[in-house]
Amino acid sequence: MNIICPLAVPKGRRLCCEVCEAPAERVCTACTVTYYCGVVHQRADWDSIHEKICQLLIPLRTTMPFYNSEEERQHGQQQLRQRQKHLIEFCYTVAQKYLFEGKHEAAVPAALHSLRFRMNLHGLSSVELVPAYLLLAEASLGLGQTVQAEEYLSQAQWTVLKSTECSYAIQSLLHRNLGLLHIAKENYEEARYHLANDIYFASCAFGTEDIRTSGGYFHLANIFYGLKKLDVADTLYTKVSEIWSKYLNNRYQVLSEARIQQIDLLGKRFETDTGLDEAQEAEAIQILTSVWNIRESTSDTAPQKTIFVLNTLVMLYYLMMNSSKASFPRKAPCLMEVEVPLVAFSCVLPSCTGFCPLSKAALQKSSDVHDVSHLLSPACIMETALSSSRGICPLLA
Ligand SMILES: [Zn+2]
Ligand SMILES: [Zn+2]
Repeated sequence: MNIICPLAVPKGRRLCCEVCEAPAERVCTACTVTYYCGVVHQRADWDSIHEKICQLLIPLRTTMPFYNSEEERQHGQQQLRQRQKHLIEFCYTVAQKYLFEGKHEAAVPAALHSLRFRMNLHGLSSVELVPAYLLLAEASLGLGQTVQAEEYLSQAQWTVLKSTECSYAIQSLLHRNLGLLHIAKENYEEARYHLANDIYFASCAFGTEDIRTSGGYFHLANIFYGLKKLDVADTLYTKVSEIWSKYLNNRYQVLSEARIQQIDLLGKRFETDTGLDEAQEAEAIQILTSVWNIRESTSDTAPQKTIFVLNTLVMLYYLMMNSSKASFPRKAPCLMEVEVPLVAFSCVLPSCTGFCPLSKAALQKSSDVHDVSHLLSPACIMETALSSSRGICPLLA
């Protein structure tokens, strides 16, 4: 039974919906500590985040047990704080991943959780709240709710202004989101100002050639591309592809040299062989796929640029699949979604035809996307990664 009986609720205690904070009428039967205004919000929350954190919420939302000594009590509180921190990071990564996958609606409950746990732990005016505000702003932008997005962003901006200890990384994120807001409002002058700031702060924090700086270059390139300033856009897209290519190739080198053992650190459980968390992987796919699509439209003039970005993308997929056999079936559909033009692949995968028995047939077949998935078997992709360095394909040399 998941309907709340009003008479059973202690007097003076108001139960609020997890999603909209309206008076609650239902409770999650699995954890019995999470309330909802109705089926719609319960379902939305379950699909977004609650399924993953349902059991984790129980110790956070039930009263602390009776401790016999001060020492035990302090230990208990410390554990509670650890759990809260873990949940903050977890909800944040989940929300971020949804955003990069374009699932803005699903991101909202997860981002809201991250915000609320941050408020509980750090207080209402802490700069720690900013990342969560930014996620919510980005989700609202994706849903076309510009006013809502502006509200979250001004909250974030205000918090940053008041704070004396705001890191470069957070300032960079703030400016990136402000840039995206102005792009949505077609105010390109302002957007360029904020994205330039984003690149500046990200460079201060991570360096100019870091993958975390590449997002700023990418969005700036999109503006110039939209304004038909193709040469500037082209330079920036090249920069983005180079940053990712360098990162992934280094990663590949490191992995093949030293068969790294995976250390399952607490909170780092999402790290795969790409060295990225799931959200960063999704970002890499998003950025590289859009650059590739743009390159594809101008591939007549400079095919090697298309090949370069495609090769980087293939390397990314290869490293992702390498992470564990178990994750392969789950990630395979992404490969099928990427509609691979066979022409491009026949030169990216020159050695493939001899290597994988399925690929030869697949190449000759029509552009049926599912056939292409045979081409992208891990063995083929590994071979591609190798062949690119050996210079087998004349275009890659
Ligand atoms: Zn609700
Ligand atoms: Zn629950």
